[in-house]
Amino acid sequence: MLEKTLSIIKPDAVKAGYSGKIIAILEENGFEIKAMKKIKLTKKQAEGFYIVHKDRPFYDSLTTFMSSGSIIVMVLEKENAIADYRELMGATDPSNAKPGTIRALYAKNIEENAVHGSDSKESTDFEIPYFFSALEIL
Ligand code: GDP
Repeated sequence: MLEKTLSIIKPDAVKAGYSGKIIAILEENGFEIKAMKKIKLTKKQAEGFYIVHKDRPFYDSLTTFMSSGSIIVMVLEKENAIADYRELMGATDPSNAKPGTIRALYAKNIEENAVHGSDSKESTDFEIPYFFSALEIL
């Protein structure tokens, strides 16, 4: 099924200059970029995005990190995009990520792990409109 998913290049990877390389990997793997923008979240906006993690011990640290610098937010489209992009990202902790995945290549640690990707259809239904209006998506 043709699906859309939300991708974020996180502040660590943008700062390190990996954005172009990550976007190239996405395109090489058949993901079409349907919308894209570079923005900087406020702490409150990062907290809103990660609200599902509000009771986790790393919530404050994660949302401080996610509002610490520019990010690149994209809507990607492909057959089976949600699961395929999760596979291409690799495990949350880069020390467990399969060789060749984006996190194996570019993540610094379990928090500063280069990229975000929606984990389900329910997540995309929340995450895509969090950043993009229908008019901004091709
Ligand atoms: P994801 O779906 O692979 O991004 O992982 P999760 O949904 O479990 O966590 C969301 C984000 O929180 C991760 O991508 C990391 O940036 C961060 N995170 C997850 N687990 C930890 C942790 O144990 N410690 C810290 N500091 N951050 C974490």
